[in-house]
Amino acid sequence: MKVVVWNENIHEKSDPRVTEIYPGGIHEFIASFLRCDDVEVTTATQDQEECGLTDAVLDETDVLLWWGHIGHEHVPDEVVNRVHRHVLGGMGLIVLHSGHNSKIFQKLNGTSCSLKWRDETRERIWTIMPNHPIAEGVDETFVLEPEEMYGERFDIAPPEEIIFLGWFNGGEVFRSGCTWTRGHGKMFYFQPGHETNRAYHNENVQRIIKNAVRWACPIKKNIRVGCDWVPPYEEIK
Ligand code: ZN
Repeated sequence: MKVVVWNENIHEKSDPRVTEIYPGGIHEFIASFLRCDDVEVTTATQDQEECGLTDAVLDETDVLLWWGHIGHEHVPDEVVNRVHRHVLGGMGLIVLHSGHNSKIFQKLNGTSCSLKWRDETRERIWTIMPNHPIAEGVDETFVLEPEEMYGERFDIAPPEEIIFLGWFNGGEVFRSGCTWTRGHGKMFYFQPGHETNRAYHNENVQRIIKNAVRWACPIKKNIRVGCDWVPPYEEIK
């Protein structure tokens, strides 16, 4: 399985707290816990040519993970359209935390993907689909503190599955882990992961992201999506 962890990699260059928590950047940290015998993981960042997401890279990618926050508008539409086409063709996509506002997540939802937010809160996550492959080995409930509050209404397309629910100590709730299918591709959104918190160090969070990569991995990718005239398979009398 080939996985690419994409990060805008902007906070890492200006806020030393981020690289203190995530040495090498959020992308390298996530890649480090995903790597194993049957999962080959590389990273790509916004400062690379074509954001590191050329057709050659995406053709080989089974699952793409997306972390962005303050640079969403600087991702060229051409790159967004290319990722979109690959998702429709079967590539898995996992959108993390502030990636909710990314062009690619908005395009795949067809909605604003807006939400309420506030820093420095305590979150309790509940696993509400314990029999789902993404929830395998995950505790029924666990706490992230501090975590950024993301509250409803989360303006997303109706998810096919809501696997995790978040509750925050300000009283807000959130659909923290949701799935969709778009074309031939599977998409998962997972809410934790503010850049100055330690969410990606949490065992349950790592387990969920590892499970999600396996869940989103396509049997077949690069399926051509076309609208073609075809001759009949049987003689029409
Ligand atoms: Zn955040």
